[in-house]
Amino acid sequence: MSYQNYSLKQLQQIDASHHLHPFTDHKELREAGSRIITRADGPYIYDSEGNELLDGMAGLWCVAVGYGRDELADAAYKQMKELPYYNSFFKCSTPTPVLLSQKLVEIAPEGISQVFYGSSGSEANDTAVRLVRHYWALEGKPEKNCIISRKNAYHGSTVAGTSLGGMEAMHKQLGGAVPNIVHVMMPYAYELALPGESDHDFGLRAAKAVEDAILEAGADKVAAFIGEPIMGAGGVKIPPMSYWPEVERICRKYDVLLMLDEVITGYGRTGEWFAAQSFGVRPDTITTAKALTSGYQPLSALLVGDRIASTLVEKGGEFAHGYTYSGHPVACAVALANIDIIAREGLVERVKNDTGPYFAQALGERIADHPLVGEVRSFGLMGAIEIVKDKATKERFSPSGSAAVVVRDHAIDNGMMMRATGDTMILSPPLIWTRDTIDMACRRIRKALDLAEADLR
Ligand code: PLP
Repeated sequence: MSYQNYSLKQLQQIDASHHLHPFTDHKELREAGSRIITRADGPYIYDSEGNELLDGMAGLWCVAVGYGRDELADAAYKQMKELPYYNSFFKCSTPTPVLLSQKLVEIAPEGISQVFYGSSGSEANDTAVRLVRHYWALEGKPEKNCIISRKNAYHGSTVAGTSLGGMEAMHKQLGGAVPNIVHVMMPYAYELALPGESDHDFGLRAAKAVEDAILEAGADKVAAFIGEPIMGAGGVKIPPMSYWPEVERICRKYDVLLMLDEVITGYGRTGEWFAAQSFGVRPDTITTAKALTSGYQPLSALLVGDRIASTLVEKGGEFAHGYTYSGHPVACAVALANIDIIAREGLVERVKNDTGPYFAQALGERIADHPLVGEVRSFGLMGAIEIVKDKATKERFSPSGSAAVVVRDHAIDNGMMMRATGDTMILSPPLIWTRDTIDMACRRIRKALDLAEADLR
């Protein structure tokens, strides 16, 4: 039966009665009712009441090529008719994961040679934890199994993903984390740089926290360091350019593997295929998902470097790990078509040379001077707006997080879908945004800020 036979109220009632949502206060949801998104086209989403919203979040950081791409629907349909599913266990394969792996290795940073598939970023990070620990065991160092991560990191919502992540609220509900994971400071200059400390020096100091953690645990006990090149869900926290090369140097010095979580930054968002290329580092693993299929199908790919890959082959023995949907033929067919669109339309270069710089300039010229804004920052098509009570002192509104929600609600009422995390507004639009779309977004955000200012003062 079509949803069109139901009124909004009915859908909301059924939703509240039977559907548990991710990261949601279900008491509040029952009171407020959900916004039901029914269709989308290009950069816009539409709700059941016909409201058009410019999607500043690309769904959930994923719809890189925008909505309504027939090519992706056709790729899924064709593959479903030909072979909807077969597994890749027991020495079997299907053509699309084979060809996708070849494609991913071709566009990945140098040194990546293998791919392991899952259906979500969280699964891919679980795989990454299993894999690096397995690697060190194969190398005869099973005690080298500690993983260093960062406070406020987001690496997914499974038990391993939550343990890797540094979100306090999630840890509180975990009831027992995966052992041997430690968290160091994040490279977030706006709040953590010392008075007078340069961006460059702050980046080196934040990297030094990784070295300190390695020395504290003992280098012979540390398997890897994991980080999002730009922290996404934690508030688009962009490290100084000095940070990643120094982290890489430290990892190499102590023979610690470098794992990048590019679930958000992968496939063009930073103006390169991968942020590893933007920051000039060569990781041992790269976790990817989201824009791999532009969200049209659930798929993740853990990209694995030569060092781990060759040990797996040379030492042999089963890696006792995998998912029913690893290398799903339909999801991989859609990923191939999606990567083809990104390449053919030159979206990565466009972010690097045109829309990325224009986005930074527009936020800087049209949003940064607003009295509610403490800082704007962006990298490629990923941006953040810090909401403050006092620009000069950086004092926040109380309670923490309350003001950004007011801005977000006004933004949505004015046709701009964006997200608030803590006191930070975040933007991660589809890569198809043009200069005109950026102009439109800035007008709507400015209006939302003005309305919020009137409410909050
Ligand atoms: N890693 C990062 C950096 C993410 O941003 C996310 C999700 O937002 C994940 C992992 C988890 O991905 P998923 O929600 O597909 O499990």
